Amino acid sequence: MYFPQQTKKNEFLNESEDHLLRIHSLETFGTHDGPGIRMVVFTQGCQFRCLYCQNPDTLDIHGGSLISIDELVEKAINQQPFFSKKGGVTVSGGEPLLHRKQLITFFEKLHENGINTCLDTNGRVLDDATKELLDKTDLLLLDVKHINNDWHKKLTSLSNKTTLKVANYREETGKKMWLRYVLVPGWTDQEEYLHEWGRYFTNYKTIEKVEIIPFHQMGKHKWDLLNFEYAFADVKAPTPQEIEKATSIFNQYFKKVVVK
Ligand code: SF4
Repeated sequence: MYFPQQTKKNEFLNESEDHLLRIHSLETFGTHDGPGIRMVVFTQGCQFRCLYCQNPDTLDIHGGSLISIDELVEKAINQQPFFSKKGGVTVSGGEPLLHRKQLITFFEKLHENGINTCLDTNGRVLDDATKELLDKTDLLLLDVKHINNDWHKKLTSLSNKTTLKVANYREETGKKMWLRYVLVPGWTDQEEYLHEWGRYFTNYKTIEKVEIIPFHQMGKHKWDLLNFEYAFADVKAPTPQEIEKATSIFNQYFKKVVVK
């Protein structure tokens, strides 16, 4: 077996159970996906097939389990005292945009309870429902995995065009976002493309921060468990010098660049 069948982007829009969300897992007290302390909801299913995916068990849209939106809201309210000023709820994945209709309801209910919303996405879908969800998203974490479309396709199996349109839409709305970039030696660390990535976004006013995420091999065991063929088995994590080089390039284009 290689990968589960790829998910069609509208597969979940017609799901009759609008009050249910298909999730992989929940994390409490998360500190890696957005500001402050957060409840993180990992949705199930993704259209990309990133060769470095650290969570291949989230890819299959038919996996995971269903949970009601009301139950999720209740869990968030219970954790609200720990969120303090900055924290809140992040929806990650898998790919949350596959569940955009359900997430609009979820984010509306979180806002009714004064809870901050954050969406961590690959930006592969842009339609009216995506726009509505983005408008209810206080902070967008957008993964732009490669600026060169050929490399993007090699790395993820799909084009980066819609992701760039999502970034553009966010910029038009004036609402804030953080960009995320997984640094993989030999795949995403080419100097010319790092500059191209920086030049592409440098004039965006809504980008508060760029996060560089160095590739690591901690997800390898999941690929083995699932019996998926892992093309990155021999790819090394970037060295401190390689991370420093990418950071110094991005620093030429953005006010704030951090390494996760
Ligand atoms: S977008 Fe994220 S969840 Fe989907 S394949 Fe890529 S790394 Fe994995």
